[in-house]
Amino acid sequence: MHIIFLGPPGAGKGTQAEIISKKYNIKKISTGDILRSEMENGTELGKIAKQYMEKGELVPDEIMIKIIENHIKNLNSFILDGFPRTLNQALELEKITKIDKVIYINVPDEEIKNRLLKRGRLDDKPEVIENRIKVYREQTQVLIDYYKKKGILYEIDGMGSIEEISKRIESVLINPT
Ligand code: AMP
Repeated sequence: MHIIFLGPPGAGKGTQAEIISKKYNIKKISTGDILRSEMENGTELGKIAKQYMEKGELVPDEIMIKIIENHIKNLNSFILDGFPRTLNQALELEKITKIDKVIYINVPDEEIKNRLLKRGRLDDKPEVIENRIKVYREQTQVLIDYYKKKGILYEIDGMGSIEEISKRIESVLINPT
């Protein structure tokens, strides 16, 4: 199965993708984690990505598409966490593979900010958080409608305990379409 986890920053995509990935033995590809590891290793890609990430901006599509292409080739099933984030990324992804289900984790704005402030990652500073939310609204939110129109979007209430939310996701993934 080819799955996308979609939602605002702080919705719990990474946490949930990790749980589902382990439980069902589906490879998880988290573009944020990939970029952070490139940064830690001081690679060329990491240096470029850092300039965008520390401001809460998106890394250019061409770079992200190459990364995804390299990571999903030869995989029968995968969960994408943090990709696509723009319509262009979604269109390019479609040229390489077919997506079965998009899990949209919906969390109210106020809750997002609280969660991110608690997390304390390098790009979780108040100004950067504001910009990441803005970038999400301006560039990523369109994907909700895009996948809804394709009939593959499944909206999950992202409020509640981690276990409650994983159960909701599992019931969507288990049900045949
Ligand atoms: P995340 O861990 O998913 O919140 O991603 C952290 C940061 O990595 C984002 O704020 C972006 O700067 C960058 N990033 C991750 N995934 C993408 C993507 N698909 N397109 C562009 N930038 C991305």
